[in-house]
Amino acid sequence: MSQASSGLLRWMTRKRQLSEWWGKERPQLVNNMLARQHAAPRICQLCGNNPAVICCSDCRPQPYLCGQCDIRVHQRQVFHNRDLMTDKFFHPLPPTTCVLDSVLTHCERLVPLEMPDKVCNCLRSSVIAGQSIAVVTMNGRYDLRLPQIKCEACEASWSPELGDLIRSDSFRQSFLEWEAARYEVDKLTREDHFNCPACSPDMLAVSVDGNRKLYRFKTAARSEEKAIFDGVFIANDGDVQRFVDYIHTATNHVSGRGVCGGHWSAAREMSRKASGKTDEEGLELAVCRHGVLLRALNMFRGEIFAYPLYLQQQMASKAITFFAMDVACKYWPYLQKVAEKCPELQHLLDMRPFLSVFHAKAHDFMCEVKWSGAYQEGAGSTLGEEVEQCNAFLSRIAVTTKHMSKAGRTDMLTVMGMRWNQQKINHLSSTLTRRYQKTTVALEEQLQNLEAMKIQMGITDDQLESWVIDVKQWAGGTTSPTDGAVAAVASRIEDLVASVKRRSQFLYKDSDGSKQRARMRRKIREEKAILTSVVDKYNSMVEQEEQLNMDDILSKSIVWPWQLKHSDVVGLATKRKAFDAAMAVKRLEEEKRIIIAEMQKHWRDLCGRGATLDQISQLTVTGETLGLLEDGLKGLQSLVLKKKKARRTMEEHVKKMYMKILTDTGMNLSDHSDSEEEYGGSDSGQE
Ligand SMILES: [Zn+2]
Ligand SMILES: [Zn+2]
Ligand SMILES: [Zn+2]
Ligand SMILES: [Zn+2]
Ligand SMILES: [Zn+2]
Repeated sequence: MSQASSGLLRWMTRKRQLSEWWGKERPQLVNNMLARQHAAPRICQLCGNNPAVICCSDCRPQPYLCGQCDIRVHQRQVFHNRDLMTDKFFHPLPPTTCVLDSVLTHCERLVPLEMPDKVCNCLRSSVIAGQSIAVVTMNGRYDLRLPQIKCEACEASWSPELGDLIRSDSFRQSFLEWEAARYEVDKLTREDHFNCPACSPDMLAVSVDGNRKLYRFKTAARSEEKAIFDGVFIANDGDVQRFVDYIHTATNHVSGRGVCGGHWSAAREMSRKASGKTDEEGLELAVCRHGVLLRALNMFRGEIFAYPLYLQQQMASKAITFFAMDVACKYWPYLQKVAEKCPELQHLLDMRPFLSVFHAKAHDFMCEVKWSGAYQEGAGSTLGEEVEQCNAFLSRIAVTTKHMSKAGRTDMLTVMGMRWNQQKINHLSSTLTRRYQKTTVALEEQLQNLEAMKIQMGITDDQLESWVIDVKQWAGGTTSPTDGAVAAVASRIEDLVASVKRRSQFLYKDSDGSKQRARMRRKIREEKAILTSVVDKYNSMVEQEEQLNMDDILSKSIVWPWQLKHSDVVGLATKRKAFDAAMAVKRLEEEKRIIIAEMQKHWRDLCGRGATLDQISQLTVTGETLGLLEDGLKGLQSLVLKKKKARRTMEEHVKKMYMKILTDTGMNLSDHSDSEEEYGGSDSGQE
């Protein structure tokens, strides 16, 4: 055995031992984490006089301090982990909060961190309190503010990045272990990190899309450690592989991924790795229409349809109305074929296909009317592209995760996903409220627009209604020219145009690096050249009025001459304008109803959460050990108190936000008292 490979083996053994050790220690860590939560009354250990209000985990052996002693000690020791203990539970305080005369007071405290001497030459830069950040070390978590340097003159600035803080391996391990213990504690208090309260118990739409920036290099840290969060958010690779194999065997590789108008290509579904350098090629993500992350899987062989199928199947335990993706018009026929061969997946067809609104613009108008979310009854203003907002967030960590081990990457992405969701859920009430207000304004505008159009066109509501039906019927009809030779050329044109448009969209949104952009531009040029010659050929085969010109077919969503019945030629453009206006109004009206329903679901979820916390309180006092030691159990009780407090604060905030809107609609949030009776007791007035 070579020296290098025996070294590698030793290193891998050590890695494995370390991860086994962590695995054994975890129950103990969980108990200790909880035990530290128990807050009993104390006297300040410094002055021995006043009651202690602060417990500092880093001022050993005298952690309990009164307000004045706390300020004296911690003016400089900003890194110390301080908790307020006056409410019978520990409430973490940022270094910028202290207790003055029994009142929580704000004070400016900066985190000592290595910083550049200067950011420019103006000599007018100053250090200010920047972003809040949770810094985690072996000792625990610190909620701090990052320093930031800014120049008043030239706007040059410097601020440290998350990547700087988690680069070292040992730091990362402790960070993840802390997160793992926290996750176990969250499980004890029955918190679900990958669930949207406004989409529970039923969900209007789930949208699925790939993120190709979250790849991982094959040569990156190789180790056999198992991810702590395997299967929690990112599905287990083996499970996905078995599912993909099963589908492929059962269906004989029926189809591939393409664009509308294109033909099935088995080759695509069997597509090989995009590059030999990567192991995971990216993440396929499922999110709700509020951008809450729900489920993900690692892609290993391009964006095959079996991936969204796996996620759809995973999500289907919930009642979901729409399944949104960028090529729903191709995916749905695939799903129908798969369901024929695999009857146990038949129920997936109960969802309705939803072609994401932006991507639909790259398809022709007929496809848009049939599939785009903008024209689906009941879809509201859902876009089906909600994955994009998570992508921007997750891609920030991609620079680090692409060099990590498989397990490290899974854990880090899961932790990031939890953070993202926590933020989304914390802001859910303001998001929904703002969305409702915006929708109300947009609806006013669209109603005026529709009225003006009706007057201008001189049509009645009945006529408008019948035009809408006409357009829908037209979109449901057959699409190819009657002459076989012309039909073949026409279908080639549809393929090429869809491809050019898709590549152009890709150029603006997904591409990573200038090399890829250059390749994409070259492909677009090549396809346009072919398109020009195919269009010439088509034009030589048809009558003058059916001829195409290159500029028209690449701008906006086109209606092909072969999609028009001769009697329609004059009317469709006009009908389409009216159709668009009518649909815009309808979607906005639906959106208002949808948001109100979502607010109620969110509210009910909050109330249900209160009942759950009550149940856990009950359990902890009736002698249930929950696998904890006595100190851990005491800590759990304190933690539940803390969570109840946080929930009540949230409840008050949410109620205030929603009442503003709900009183106008004649609805209210009365469900709360119902749920209290149902669960046998309220959580207010007991502590
Ligand atoms: Zn004191
Ligand atoms: Zn201290
Ligand atoms: Zn400057
Ligand atoms: Zn949601
Ligand atoms: Zn399409």
